[in-house]
Amino acid sequence: MVLSAGEISFVREADRWIVSEVSNQSTGYCPDLSSWSEVARALDDIALARPSGFTHEVVFRRCPDCQEHNIVREDDFVCVFCGSDLPADWNVDPTA
Ligand SMILES: [Zn+2]
Repeated sequence: MVLSAGEISFVREADRWIVSEVSNQSTGYCPDLSSWSEVARALDDIALARPSGFTHEVVFRRCPDCQEHNIVREDDFVCVFCGSDLPADWNVDPTA
């Protein structure tokens, strides 16, 4: 089971590495923003300093009509492919 996915960057700070940037930008898994808690837990488990949340947030939704995956921009929950309304809640589970 994939708990989250995205991109992560590290920087060297004094004698250690820290997480500088982390996002949920994965067009394969399209994780919800709520998956941050899993990312935070995983980084905390290995004692890696991290931001308090995703530094770049991507909102993914699957269109209920045409089934295409959308990236929601500026809270505009409309499918860019067919114009249908997109749901407020995350509905993109590639394993479903
Ligand atoms: Zn659509």
